[in-house]
Amino acid sequence: MSKVVVIGGGAAGMFASVFAARNGNEVHLFEKNEKTGKKLFITGKGRCNITNAGDMETLFRSVVSNPKFLYSSFYGYTNEDVISFFEEIGVKTKIERGNRVFPVSDHSSDVINGLEREMKKLGVKVHLNTKVKSVEGNEEGFREIVLSNGEKVTADACIVATGGCSYQPTGSTGDGYRMAESVGHTVTEVYPALVPLEIKEDFVGELQGLSLRNVEATIYDGKKEIYSDFGEMLFTHYGVSGPLMLSASSCITKKLQDREMKLVIDLKPALSEEQLNQRVLRDFEENKNKQFRNAITKLFPAKLIPVMVMLSGIDAEKKVNEVSKEERMEFVRLIKHFTLTINGTRSFREAIITQGGVKTKEVNPATMESKLVPNLYFVGEVLDLDALTGGFNLQIAWSTAYMAGSSIW
Ligand SMILES: Cc1cc2nc3c(=O)[nH]c(=O)nc-3n(C[C@H](O)[C@H](O)[C@H](O)COP(=O)(O)OP(=O)(O)OC[C@H]3O[C@@H](n4cnc5c(N)ncnc54)[C@H](O)[C@@H]3O)c2cc1C
Repeated sequence: MSKVVVIGGGAAGMFASVFAARNGNEVHLFEKNEKTGKKLFITGKGRCNITNAGDMETLFRSVVSNPKFLYSSFYGYTNEDVISFFEEIGVKTKIERGNRVFPVSDHSSDVINGLEREMKKLGVKVHLNTKVKSVEGNEEGFREIVLSNGEKVTADACIVATGGCSYQPTGSTGDGYRMAESVGHTVTEVYPALVPLEIKEDFVGELQGLSLRNVEATIYDGKKEIYSDFGEMLFTHYGVSGPLMLSASSCITKKLQDREMKLVIDLKPALSEEQLNQRVLRDFEENKNKQFRNAITKLFPAKLIPVMVMLSGIDAEKKVNEVSKEERMEFVRLIKHFTLTINGTRSFREAIITQGGVKTKEVNPATMESKLVPNLYFVGEVLDLDALTGGFNLQIAWSTAYMAGSSIW
């Protein structure tokens, strides 16, 4: 039996505590907030998308940074294991669109309560309102943690589960990065990810609140296509958000730091340019005596019409039967290539996840133990791991936490 200290009472810290305690260890969890699971509470819009029930290939494909590092832990503790665990502790689950797994109750609080109950049952000692200031150790091993009141707590092993640095009011303020660096670990540069994108063109402001379903977005870094997918997006006063744009952000956030990129939206991806031309022609025929701006109302949501008219360069008042073939062809092209300039991401405050963190090369992928400081472990978002939305980020937290907790005796 070992004495184990866990820093951080989020998803990964609570999970690691459960499995370290199931191994018969004496476990102390330190959480600086007044309660555990503050970020978990807001996950999945308060419903907590616990994991994703897709196959292994989907799981790995959805990891953006260092998927190979997760090979042992995703196989060692699978999404099915996660579902069984929660069912076993009394949290019934259901599977929704896109294989997203939620508690049947639709309440993230049930996930938190379930974990708290299990920790209590196993005798985990939870120290709330207790901030850990530093971790002490060297190549000979982990020694102790120092609390912010100066108190030192010695233990045989320490699990750092402090999360990333997004949504800071939940407690994730990047403390774990400083702890890791202080004992010699490399922390890769961190970026906001799963985050809305800022758009240079002022007219996006006019589109605020507009949601587009079934569009195709392609992002170009110079001439190179670096992202393309279908889905739903939303315009905001500063730019674009919604599932499609959040996923895109994870793939471009690093590169966006020093350059702009082009976002090309195909507003009618189900139609080829020729089919769309026929469609526009039909609309024009039906409305041949109307002004251009009144002849395209069936093509777009109302908010988009003034912007499309402006970008088309066609006089809004022009009678549709006076629109030339060239003008119409250009208009069709515009619908298939509605182009915006991405000039940044929103900040960590609005980022669902942090990209970057403790360098995975310096951590044993089968146990999450530091390769530099024996008996020191890193789990969850503090590591340089991140994934797309759909329950994959919590799967990372659960799998890595399980590997650490269950490997300490
Ligand atoms: C709005 C939002 C919605 C999300 N929805 C989903 C979703 O539905 N599904 C999904 O898979 N992922 C979701 N995520 C991502 C997911 O929440 C994270 O990946 C996950 O919480 C990471 O778990 P963690 O335990 O590593 O870190 P955290 O959950 O951030 O926990 C870290 C804990 O450590 C504590 N701590 C930090 N420093 C110290 C210190 N010095 N001393 C003591 N305690 C400390 C913090 O207070 C915090 O409680 C969402 C994220 C956000 C922001």
